[in-house]
Amino acid sequence: MANYDIVIVGAGHNGLVTAAYLAKAGLKILVLERRDHVGGASVTEEIHPGWRCSTLAHAAGPFSPQIASDLNLSQLGLEIITPEARVLALGPDGRSFCLYDDPSRAVSEIEKFSPHDAKNYPEFLKSFARIGKVLSPLVTMTPPSIDQPAAADVWQLGKMGLAFRGLGKKDEYRLLRWAPMAVADLVAEWFDTELLRATVAARGIYGAFAGPWSAGTSLGLIWQAAIAGNPLGPASFVKGGMGALTDALAAAASAAGAEVRTGAQVDQIADADNERVRLVLSNGEEIPARAVVSNADPRTTFLRLVDPVDLDPNFLIKVQNYRAIGAAAKINFALSGRPVFTGVNGNSAALSGRIHIGADIDYLERAFDAAKYGEFSSEPYFDITIPSLTDPSLAPEGKHVMSVFVQFAPFRLTQGDWSIRREEFADLVINQLTRYAPGLPELIVSRQVITPDDLEQTFGLSGGHIHHGEQSLDQFFTFRPLIGWSQYRTPLRRLYLCGAGTHPGGGVTGIPGANAAREILKDVKAGKV
Ligand SMILES: Cc1cc2nc3c(=O)[nH]c(=O)nc-3n(C[C@H](O)[C@H](O)[C@H](O)COP(=O)(O)OP(=O)(O)OC[C@H]3O[C@@H](n4cnc5c(N)ncnc54)[C@H](O)[C@@H]3O)c2cc1C
Repeated sequence: MANYDIVIVGAGHNGLVTAAYLAKAGLKILVLERRDHVGGASVTEEIHPGWRCSTLAHAAGPFSPQIASDLNLSQLGLEIITPEARVLALGPDGRSFCLYDDPSRAVSEIEKFSPHDAKNYPEFLKSFARIGKVLSPLVTMTPPSIDQPAAADVWQLGKMGLAFRGLGKKDEYRLLRWAPMAVADLVAEWFDTELLRATVAARGIYGAFAGPWSAGTSLGLIWQAAIAGNPLGPASFVKGGMGALTDALAAAASAAGAEVRTGAQVDQIADADNERVRLVLSNGEEIPARAVVSNADPRTTFLRLVDPVDLDPNFLIKVQNYRAIGAAAKINFALSGRPVFTGVNGNSAALSGRIHIGADIDYLERAFDAAKYGEFSSEPYFDITIPSLTDPSLAPEGKHVMSVFVQFAPFRLTQGDWSIRREEFADLVINQLTRYAPGLPELIVSRQVITPDDLEQTFGLSGGHIHHGEQSLDQFFTFRPLIGWSQYRTPLRRLYLCGAGTHPGGGVTGIPGANAAREILKDVKAGKV
């Protein structure tokens, strides 16, 4: 049997990033993935013969250019598509505007609704860009230990303090005020147009069990700006769908010497505090290693894979209290033609990015209300892409795939369960979409319905949470996943975490995986594992 240094549980994009960096450093790496292909939530699958779609995530976070360059991903087939449009907002009255990547084009669109908002939009972007720039070093750093900050952490934080002072009073105050604010209040300070408020605010609640009036939801915008320099959701597509990214990552890991096995489910991580950790697979096979890195979410890792007797009861309670109740579902459509949205007509450029449906702040809040009480929303918020517009290889000629992210659809339903309400939910979604694209039902060749229950059962996301756990202020940065354990290490000395449940969180960025690899290499060099 091969003698592995480190085994990685899960071939999601973060697990693969960690594997590639560790293998490049000369370690003998094995990646074990329970599904029959790599990618986790970043995959492309055939949803109907001839139609391929990004099954779950449909745009990258964006993926870190630094990691893409370190791992030579462009030579391994990665091609990022950045469409002209970031987000097209559809109103219920048939009016719409498109926030193009180019701010001046976006301004002319907003002007149709409000000269006041058009005037504020560039300053809104600039202000977030300035704040994002100051915060960006936080994204790629290992959060400092609260108990014992290392000298490097103090130095890094000191540098950030200086940068913060450099922001100037106005932006300093903004940053301090905004982070704990409800995103509904934040957008109301900038814009009058309800549709614009809702389109911008949507980033604060994407994937969250929260509505725009929930405290702390502005954090989503600030964090997006720290990652990408812009508070709006990025339209960063991958040619071939999101699976092409994880295929390239798997190729990078393999090229560096890592072994990637699919169809290999880990049932137990044993002896992680002893001299050699043991992985027990569902087929009974046992694999020893010096260390194990879990790409599975924190609840799966600690509550399913590790024997509870190996963990301190206080730690276990904290993991049990880690919030990871999902609120989103996904429906992917194979279409016989291009959907026509009222008021948008044949404008392909406007449709080329994300498409937002969610008329106003109250609409988004009501959609959340349903989830609070265990029901899917009768008027959900939608984040839609039609990737075949910019990548025709995904569908037969002249045909399209449409990827529809639906929120709110809570993991636990009060009435019935997802197995019996799945088709009712999908019909409701189509009815709602038809209000904006009247000819849609006639175009549907087939639909792939993915409920929060499927997210847990098929994709291994505990509670169906798309980010491996809520990204709220109490589960963020030095608190992610838990206070005292934000440095990718765990109470078990040979067990590490590398997935979206670690800093800087969910989204297809690759950064948690790269940060984790850096920390693990430190321990390897120090002879700790
Ligand atoms: C519906 C949906 C839509 C999303 N939309 C976007 C979007 O548009 N843009 C964006 O940036 N992000 C989006 N996200 C979030 C993003 O996809 C995730 O945050 C990210 O992919 C997580 O990556 P990861 O590598 O940390 O974990 P995952 O991708 O979840 O990978 C974990 C891997 O571990 C495997 N695994 C788990 N347990 C075991 C075990 N016991 N044995 C072996 N293998 C195991 C799983 O099968 C999986 O492959 C979306 C997510 C979902 C679910």
